[in-house]
Amino acid sequence: MSTQLHAIVAGAGVAGLTVALALARYGHRVTVLERADVIEEVGAGLQLSPNATSVYRDLGLLERLLRFALAPETLRVRRARDAAEVMNLQYGPLAELRWGAPHLVIHRADLQRVLLEAAAGNPAITVKTSTSVLGFAASSDGIQVGGRMGPANVRFEGDILIGADGLNSAVRERLGLGEGDRPIYSGRTAWRAVLPAAQAPREALTLETNLWLGPKAHLVHYPLRGGDVVNIVAIVEDSWLGDGGDFWQQQGDIRFIRGRYASWHRQARTLIDAVPEWRRWPLFDRVPTQRWSVDRVVLMGDAAHPLLPFLAQGACMAVEDTATLAKAIATHGKNVNAAIAQYEKIRLPRAAEMRIASRRQGAIYHMSGPLAFARDLVMSRMNRDRLMARLDWIYKYRA
Ligand SMILES: Cc1cc2nc3c(=O)[nH]c(=O)nc-3n(C[C@H](O)[C@H](O)[C@H](O)COP(=O)(O)OP(=O)(O)OC[C@H]3O[C@@H](n4cnc5c(N)ncnc54)[C@H](O)[C@@H]3O)c2cc1C
Repeated sequence: MSTQLHAIVAGAGVAGLTVALALARYGHRVTVLERADVIEEVGAGLQLSPNATSVYRDLGLLERLLRFALAPETLRVRRARDAAEVMNLQYGPLAELRWGAPHLVIHRADLQRVLLEAAAGNPAITVKTSTSVLGFAASSDGIQVGGRMGPANVRFEGDILIGADGLNSAVRERLGLGEGDRPIYSGRTAWRAVLPAAQAPREALTLETNLWLGPKAHLVHYPLRGGDVVNIVAIVEDSWLGDGGDFWQQQGDIRFIRGRYASWHRQARTLIDAVPEWRRWPLFDRVPTQRWSVDRVVLMGDAAHPLLPFLAQGACMAVEDTATLAKAIATHGKNVNAAIAQYEKIRLPRAAEMRIASRRQGAIYHMSGPLAFARDLVMSRMNRDRLMARLDWIYKYRA
């Protein structure tokens, strides 16, 4: 009996495209349904840590990603007020030695392009754009997925439906995970920009990840695309929930963000002031649930466990999900529900732990007064080994 499955995936983001490639590698057929008319190469920078790059290495995609990615040599943490260095973690080649795979920064559009090209070159994968998943019905021998393709109703038949349709997942909504199951606003917004190197201050071009800590705000920046651009994320406490739609399209008012960072050290201010246009994102996560599935339907990525981005793990966790599900399906074959149960058993606790750690990290970053003073003192006294060891549970993890 053939154990080849037909998987239907809702969403062609990092999770959807990566799971398609992971399943195709085991010989399964995959149909990816994406609501957008074109899979646009949009976005800003992403940190891809070794727990995720190791998965791409297994998929044979690491070499291609390395063509677009950079590997920062240092993580430099500074105090907002006076640029005093709180911590300087020079991991360089040690990162790969310790964590077994490279720690990269990459433009999301480049990652998306590599994934899309690999999917397009794989005869087992079909990607259908302009197709929204709206509902599903499972039976003992398969799953029917209903949706809309432009004005037409469409239906697909497969063995499993994977909901990789992001924060406001339509698949999740139909799973019935309970009354209170909805995204939770964190009271923070992220302002994102990608600035051409020619317009950026020279200090922002060195091959390092920079983190600035101030009261109720922080700032992250690093070079991308061979140093041609600088990726900037400014995170502030705020009450803006967004006005629906695609966050990549939501512009932020430059006067607001410049004002918010006006009291920061000149070096940080110069970078903020150099940005002509920002995208603004309200940040959400969700309370962990007991399950991400019903019969033959399972969630992954932000649809399953959206995270606040303070440990830079949202996409990395989505990539981990894909490897775990592909391996579980390889173990259980046509017994899709057994594979889903194995996947949930492994992924639910890790996602719950990551959520707590991400929230905690945000609180630490935004401390003020004596708490910030104590934080800086503790950070400045930690040696490299201890600092790296604190990241082992994230970066050494192998899905
Ligand atoms: C400021 C910020 C910084 C971040 N930095 C990092 C970082 O450094 N490292 C990191 O690992 N993560 C980071 N993240 C998190 C990361 O961006 C997300 O976790 C990741 O992109 C989620 O991928 P996904 O594929 O699950 O969802 P998405 O990227 O949201 O993709 C979902 C896809 O599903 C489609 N879709 C939606 N509904 C339907 C439907 N009904 N039918 C069909 N298709 C549908 C959408 O159009 C979309 O293409 C950051 C996030 C933010 C906000």
